[in-house]
Amino acid sequence: MEIVLVTKNKEETILLGKNIGNLLFRGAIITLTGDLGAGKTTLTKGIAQALNVNQDVNSPTFNILKCYFSKPLNLYHIDAYRLEDVDSENKNIGLEEVIEGDGVCVIEWPMFISEFLENLDILNIDIRDIGESTRKFTIKSDSSKYDNLIKGIEGK
Ligand code: ADP
Ligand code: MG
Repeated sequence: MEIVLVTKNKEETILLGKNIGNLLFRGAIITLTGDLGAGKTTLTKGIAQALNVNQDVNSPTFNILKCYFSKPLNLYHIDAYRLEDVDSENKNIGLEEVIEGDGVCVIEWPMFISEFLENLDILNIDIRDIGESTRKFTIKSDSSKYDNLIKGIEGK
């Protein structure tokens, strides 16, 4: 299933993130694609708000992984940007356990850890800067696991 949405400013993107966050479930995996500055981390901030995360959410580019322990669902935020040129065996820093873990996982730059994402049910959100502060979100999954979530966002 696939839908396309547009936001006209940062606040609308945070609201979209909140709407997504409110529909998430244990084991959900969201990959965020799009250029630097597209809005991946901004969307994650909204998701975090919906998951009752009180801390400020920033891009974990230098940490690669940040864990936000929250109730009812923990949020794991991965930014794989710095793993681009890292060999597969050196990438195994426990990401698999986190991705298939006990909460919700949001992954920026998923193409750099694609070996850990094979055969998983994933929701991909591709973000494009289409001018000024307008962003186009293509929200898509091959797994029916995310159908209700996608329908729920569309209905907002
Ligand atoms: P990424 O994580 O994709 O590199 P960020 O979320 O860190 O991107 O940054 C997005 C930047 O774009 C922020 O500076 C934000 O203020 C700006 N921006 C402008 N319009 C929007 C929009 N509609 N949605 C999200 N961010 C926007
Ligand atoms: Mg980012």
